[in-house]
Amino acid sequence: MNIDTKKTKIVATIGPASEDVSVLKNMIESGMNVARFNFSHGEHEWHKRVMKNVRKVSRQLNIPIAIIADLQGPRVRILVEEDVKIEKGEVIRVFDVQTIAKEKAIDKSERKIITLDCPGILKSLRVSDEILIEDGIIKIKVIDVLDTHVIAEVINGDVIKNHKGVNIPDVEIPLPTLTEKDYRDLEFALGENVDYIAMSFVRDAESLMEARNYMRKLVGQDCPIPKIISKIEAKQAIKNLDEIIRTSDAIMVARGDLGIEVNPHRVSLLSKEIIKKSLKYLRPVIMATQMLASMEKNARPTRAEIADVTNAVVDHVDAVMLSAEASVGDYPIESVGTMAEIAMETERSTYDDIDLFSPIGFVSDEVKIAQSTYLFAKEMEAKTIVLFSESGYTARLLSHFRPDFLTLVATNNEKTYRQMSLVWGVRSFLYEIIDSRGEIIDKLIAESKNSGLLIKNDLAVTILGSTKSGKKLKLTGSRIV
Ligand code: PEP
Repeated sequence: MNIDTKKTKIVATIGPASEDVSVLKNMIESGMNVARFNFSHGEHEWHKRVMKNVRKVSRQLNIPIAIIADLQGPRVRILVEEDVKIEKGEVIRVFDVQTIAKEKAIDKSERKIITLDCPGILKSLRVSDEILIEDGIIKIKVIDVLDTHVIAEVINGDVIKNHKGVNIPDVEIPLPTLTEKDYRDLEFALGENVDYIAMSFVRDAESLMEARNYMRKLVGQDCPIPKIISKIEAKQAIKNLDEIIRTSDAIMVARGDLGIEVNPHRVSLLSKEIIKKSLKYLRPVIMATQMLASMEKNARPTRAEIADVTNAVVDHVDAVMLSAEASVGDYPIESVGTMAEIAMETERSTYDDIDLFSPIGFVSDEVKIAQSTYLFAKEMEAKTIVLFSESGYTARLLSHFRPDFLTLVATNNEKTYRQMSLVWGVRSFLYEIIDSRGEIIDKLIAESKNSGLLIKNDLAVTILGSTKSGKKLKLTGSRIV
């Protein structure tokens, strides 16, 4: 199987299992396109060193790899000095950092105590609110609200450990979408010139604008800023979905937390809605979490996991994502290879050709040109569309139609070159010195012939972005290779 022709992109989360240059090289050669750094874990020094490794391997292999800095966001966590074992039916006390600090002597023999690290959260809690701990494994329910703490009944018990994540789906968490830690991480990520920022627990479009304005202020008006990926995982995000998608540059279906915030039975159907809307607004969309979960410990996935990746490809996601499988698992390289094989097998089948594309949610000259170029290329049985794109916008437009062939994109913008590695069916090439766009396209066609991406007598349809009398025109043509 020639990995160069894979169209669905693979995002791999990088961690201790995948930080080394040799592992990264194997992962990229097996089909990884994007490296995700999760800022919920690790120090800046670690992120800096490993991002450098990714860039080094990407250069050596001449394969563009985008880097995502995934910010932790307003995540509430458990604070306990030692493990607290709780059992179904037991009644416990829940404080927050502010209220526990005011308590002088607490009688711990009376009822067990846990603390939430979010100041002021107790004020938002009401009787019958559910507090979910550690991916929802532990569930407690508020039965009384007092001045200093709440009393809760254990619905599903287990051992509560320090720093574990907490979800309270029906409560507005009194933390901004970008916390102080996120601002520090964002500043660091800008310094490392990352390509995408993923924002966790996005609840509204305003926070995305804030993040964008903050980045603009830091780098200056003329410098490009990373694109923003909104992680759809908070219950409130579902209410504001259209607005969030339109304001984002890309979307991640973060099924881990989404399945805690809403009934997990709804997650698959909600995912389909999120994907459909992302495609409508032309936003690259990533399907995330537990796709090949069993490969954290096993060399082979379950049949159900294979079906999950297949379905995501049939649903036309731009990218599928690996989390623990790639960051802390025993088989990071095999996980990427397996995902790549499933994606390519599905792309070759006819199943991803049914319900091919939903209409783009707006009309413009660019949309018309992209659609007619795609239809022309399809009618002519072309082997590729080759185009020049500075921002990557025309490439994203073409990708929307999910053509059977790869779209080859020449660009002079290094960020676009890397950001395109998240976009379905697009292979980007960087040309630093551009005399004329036509010449670059000729060059790219010749190079693709040398590398075997194109062969003699293939038909290449071309789109040339050009400026004439101040008006932007996109000229379409075709060429026998
Ligand atoms: C998720 O919740 O599915 C997710 C991708 O986010 P994180 O890995 O940051 O919890």
